Amino acid sequence: MPFDVLSCNAGSQVPFNTLSLPEGGDIFPVKPIEGLARARERIIARGKSRSLHVAIVGGGPSAMEIAGNVHQLAHEKNLLPPEITIVAGHAILPHAPERVRNLTARYLERRGISILTDTRVRKVRKESLLLDSGESLPADIIFLAIGVKPSPIFSKSGLPVGPDGGLRVNKYLQSIAEPNIFGGGDCIYFEPYPLDKVGVYAVRQNPVLLHNLMAAFAGTPFQEFHPGGKYLLIYNLGDGYGVFNKWSLTFGGRLSFRIKDYIDRRFMHTFQADEH
Ligand SMILES: Cc1cc2nc3c(=O)[nH]c(=O)nc-3n(C[C@H](O)[C@H](O)[C@H](O)COP(=O)(O)OP(=O)(O)OC[C@H]3O[C@@H](n4cnc5c(N)ncnc54)[C@H](O)[C@@H]3O)c2cc1C
Repeated sequence: MPFDVLSCNAGSQVPFNTLSLPEGGDIFPVKPIEGLARARERIIARGKSRSLHVAIVGGGPSAMEIAGNVHQLAHEKNLLPPEITIVAGHAILPHAPERVRNLTARYLERRGISILTDTRVRKVRKESLLLDSGESLPADIIFLAIGVKPSPIFSKSGLPVGPDGGLRVNKYLQSIAEPNIFGGGDCIYFEPYPLDKVGVYAVRQNPVLLHNLMAAFAGTPFQEFHPGGKYLLIYNLGDGYGVFNKWSLTFGGRLSFRIKDYIDRRFMHTFQADEH
């Protein structure tokens, strides 16, 4: 499809090809997010007649959120209580402050969620995980939360990419090689300095991206993208609990979740169709 100006917003994927996966089985990478709706259906369908073993591979924020929200789902849908295990690799939340890690672990463990640290998965099987200790962990439902990588379309495109394979862009969110190609969100490598793959940046970039796409048509000056300061981090740990962190302020509990829920709903509200 020909284009005059292109905006790349293809996001990221879980690089699950680094694990050899079996055919079939209820195995769900945490992205694309659409796949999580299917995981939800499978848990509801299978969890009515027996207690499921749910295993989450990975120890980052999405692993924590999935674990807590599977617990909530089972409770809400009156399923038999699942056995939820996070296989976290070396440690949970390696990039988060220690207090965030401790609070998160406490909120999950007190609801019966097991966290295995210093444990890696050697092989994903259809209904179990082979751990590096040689032990087998039963797993009816498996989530893969091993981090994300930008969409692979750029590494095949011949355009300059960053070390993670993301479209390499300058301070105008513009490809460093093709002046009519722009991008934002998880699929770019922001050359001035690498950014975390969080929606916060995708959201902050969008007004600049829109401006620069229009400027490319009009031949008017571009805007620079400034990522802004440290972003607010709130984990949704299910059952109405959250963990909040910004600068040195960290707290957990229902208030954290309510703040996150309020911010997310307010943001989504801006995209609702006007019914009047
Ligand atoms: C469980 C979980 C919880 C998260 N919670 C938070 C949070 O609380 N706060 C936060 O800031 N971030 C959070 N994130 C990260 C956040 O989801 C991402 O940073 C954000 O979605 C990136 O937005 P994006 O538009 O760049 O890409 P995506 O949201 O990945 O969207 C990319 C879109 O492009 C489509 N696409 C992909 N390839 C192609 C193609 N070849 N052709 C056409 N279309 C294509 C995809 O189907 C998708 O619709 C979370 C992530 C996960 C997995």
